[in-house]
Amino acid sequence: MFEQAKKIIEESNTIYIVAHVNPDGDAIGSTFAIYFALKKMGKDAHVVMPDHSTVFNFLPRIDEHVKSIDVRSYDLLIALDSSDNTRLAIPKEDYDKAKKIIMLDHHQVTNPYGDFIHIDDTRSSASEIAYIFLKYITDNNIDKDMATMLYTGIMTDTGCFNYNNTSARTMRVVAELLDIGADNFLVNKKINDTIQESKLRLVAKTIDNIESFYDNKLKYSYVSYEEIHALGISDEDAEGMTNYLRSIAGTEFAVYVRGKSDGSIKVSMRSGGRIDVSKVAIEFGGGGHPRAAGYTMQDPYEIGKEKLIKAIGEMI
Ligand code: 5GP
Ligand code: MN
Repeated sequence: MFEQAKKIIEESNTIYIVAHVNPDGDAIGSTFAIYFALKKMGKDAHVVMPDHSTVFNFLPRIDEHVKSIDVRSYDLLIALDSSDNTRLAIPKEDYDKAKKIIMLDHHQVTNPYGDFIHIDDTRSSASEIAYIFLKYITDNNIDKDMATMLYTGIMTDTGCFNYNNTSARTMRVVAELLDIGADNFLVNKKINDTIQESKLRLVAKTIDNIESFYDNKLKYSYVSYEEIHALGISDEDAEGMTNYLRSIAGTEFAVYVRGKSDGSIKVSMRSGGRIDVSKVAIEFGGGGHPRAAGYTMQDPYEIGKEKLIKAIGEMI
């Protein structure tokens, strides 16, 4: 399955590993696990990650990433967890500097890219795919730090093994990661059982700002950049509020809208199950999955809000 990818890696020296912008646990877990393996193989490998949430700072060797690509050309780009090459955390000119591209993803992909493409949307996460990939590439030499990274990716992308992308096969991969020594207690403690006070205050603000529409089927909350900034929270740390809205009983559609430091407005949407929220996101120039999708508002806030609520009303 991965012979050709292994050959490309063997023939490459300078390798950049990149996932999507606003990296989540899966983006971070899958890129760093592959990075650790490539370093062990003696490659000139780098993870590119311009920004990330401080929540992940406890992860092993996470500070070894670079912010951008500053070479004129490089042998290989390994792209993970990004169904679209325009969402990768590098600008197009750096993408174009790669001589070869390996793409690994678990989303339903409409525009695959690269010289070696492996997409499996029956897998929970890019990290689950990266595990199978690394077993092959390293001849079964996955180490503890790689396992901790991969565990982080699988645990976060499955919502702590709650979502319906969690399969028996996922759990078998997780069992193997624990056998290797993945530090699941640390990861769970830091990610699921720890919250900065400022972030908990953002949860309070988000709940406080809720507006309900369509018989409470739509829960909508907008937190302005000023409100987020006043709490001392960065753009990366201001996400993750949408799930709180979705978990409110009776909610079919949850929308969390936040102002960002660059003046843009980010919309994050979650479905209770019945409605495909990606349809709305695509209508406004974004994308995502049936249950989680988003976009950046192109209109001024009040106009954008009105259009969005109307579009959701038509779906509900
Ligand atoms: P979140 O609400 O966590 O920011 O994003 C949920 C999902 O929606 C992401 O995993 C991604 O697939 C998709 N998504 C969010 N924002 C955008 C966007 O601006 N463009 C596209 N194409 N997809 C997005
Ligand atoms: Mn993912």
